[in-house]
Amino acid sequence: MTIEPTAPITQDVMTLPRQTPAAEKVNLVGLTRPQLREALIAAGTPEKQAKMRVDQLWQWIYQKGVRDFAQMTNLAKAYRVQLAESFEIRLPEVTSRQVSADGTRKYLVRIEGGHEVETVYIPEADRGTLCISSQVGCTLTCSFCHTGTQKLVRNLTAAEIIGQVMVARDDLGEWPEPGRAPKNETRLLSNIVLMGMGEPLYNFDAVRDAMLIAMDGEGISLSRRRITLSTSGVVPEIARTAEEIGCMLAISFHATTDPVRDKLVPINKKWPIAELLDALRAYPKLSNSERITFEYVMLKDVNDSDEDARRLLRLIKGIPAKINLIPFNEWPGSPYQRSDWARIERFADIIYKAGYAAPIRTPRGEDIMAACGQLKSASERARNARRANAAS
Ligand code: SAH
Ligand code: SF4
Repeated sequence: MTIEPTAPITQDVMTLPRQTPAAEKVNLVGLTRPQLREALIAAGTPEKQAKMRVDQLWQWIYQKGVRDFAQMTNLAKAYRVQLAESFEIRLPEVTSRQVSADGTRKYLVRIEGGHEVETVYIPEADRGTLCISSQVGCTLTCSFCHTGTQKLVRNLTAAEIIGQVMVARDDLGEWPEPGRAPKNETRLLSNIVLMGMGEPLYNFDAVRDAMLIAMDGEGISLSRRRITLSTSGVVPEIARTAEEIGCMLAISFHATTDPVRDKLVPINKKWPIAELLDALRAYPKLSNSERITFEYVMLKDVNDSDEDARRLLRLIKGIPAKINLIPFNEWPGSPYQRSDWARIERFADIIYKAGYAAPIRTPRGEDIMAACGQLKSASERARNARRANAAS
């Protein structure tokens, strides 16, 4: 397949000066409204003005995409100078950007400590979805997932999570002209899925804070129905997701019996299928969202029989659901094969005939290793290449 790299933002990151994280300045990105208020007061903003200042800064940062206090023209000049002394508006750095033949964009985003995470933008006819990461690596070890072979390095901060959305909007040029907020229907970045690297429910607070920022009506203003959090099944956090975030939920289901799911998604040993389903049954009511997405990776001769399809239907009975069938994306050394196309269609047909939507997810961005479960290899490749460069 052809790789069509448009000019990367940086050709050789080793030659770039490291971003000095001006330690003494507080980054305003990623602070919740109450945290922002506290920070402003601590830096000398009178308490009486604090609410108004929070509103103003919020709009500059999240609605207009402004990064420089000097441009915040509805604030007094002296106050702008005062803000710049204590604060900064800092995003993670995009170290490379690749564009797939199908238009998918993959960003390598460098966060503090020199770690990198991947963020993928997937344009479609009626939407543009940004797939964001919540951790560097993952503590879980799902046997079909490449990220699962990489140890957890650390949780991302709320700033680094919402920062991925902001750098993508920078790249898409989607900060509106003043007074012209983008409409959902015409947005380039209209949906967020937490389906990149990491288990979002093992980094709950940061994910919640970042998503509340994404949903805030005075800022990026994405509807909670356009945000989907995917979890491998951290049962105790599912009710909290409904109550504290209220976004759509996707569940990495992938198997219809405990022995098979134990192998594919080992967290199942802790919270087996029956417990998971109980938590899912309660979710739509708690979050007032219509239905849960069941993700099901199609692995040849492992979980793809007609019997599996029927068992899946029996298990999810009574849960408003959509089943997303994901053809397995292979990665170097992966122990599984993708089910044959005819098998996937037959499986989809059984589900569909029972009255559920059963879309087969077209792999996107495979040529740049941006497809589901492939996130890792490319950053490792880049790292290796850089090491080789540095050594030569
Ligand atoms: N940790 C979370 C979210 C990230 S994974 C979770 O597991 O839900 C996003 C989705 O991609 C999950 O459904 C995951 O099971 C799936 N996935 C992982 N590796 C894959 C692969 N190699 N091919 C296809 N889908 C994969
Ligand atoms: Fe982690 Fe999700 Fe991959 Fe499992 S599928 S290893 S939970 S990123």
